[in-house]
Amino acid sequence: MSDCLFCKIIAGEIPTTKVYEDDKCLAFLDIAPMAPTHFLVIPKQHFASAAEVTEENEALIGHIYTVIAKLAKEQGFADGYRVVTNVGELAGQTVHHIHFHVLSGKQLGSFN
Ligand code: 5GP
Ligand code: ZN
Repeated sequence: MSDCLFCKIIAGEIPTTKVYEDDKCLAFLDIAPMAPTHFLVIPKQHFASAAEVTEENEALIGHIYTVIAKLAKEQGFADGYRVVTNVGELAGQTVHHIHFHVLSGKQLGSFN
């Protein structure tokens, strides 16, 4: 989608610090980190949120969790981390291209 911030990041039009990339997904540091480790993992295929997960794209979501588990082991935070995906503005979603926040490196608080 031409007007999507994260599609622009995938296209290389907006610079980021890449953590991981393959043919299906990209991981990059969040510009406003909420924890010592805070990166986002996004599929290269655009869809708005987890509310649009279907049988057609469920394998992609599984792949993203596999990538996150590998990165956690490689980067040494597999003992404790949080994966968050916000769905809709009421949940705080500001970029409408599905993304998974990965947070670690400090004691994380409870949800509210
Ligand atoms: P949301 O609030 O939609 O769940 O998360 C969007 C995230 O994208 C936020 O944590 C925000 O800091 C991050 N973000 C927004 N714009 C940019 C950007 O241009 N570059 C990077 N690296 N992160 C961004
Ligand atoms: Zn997009």
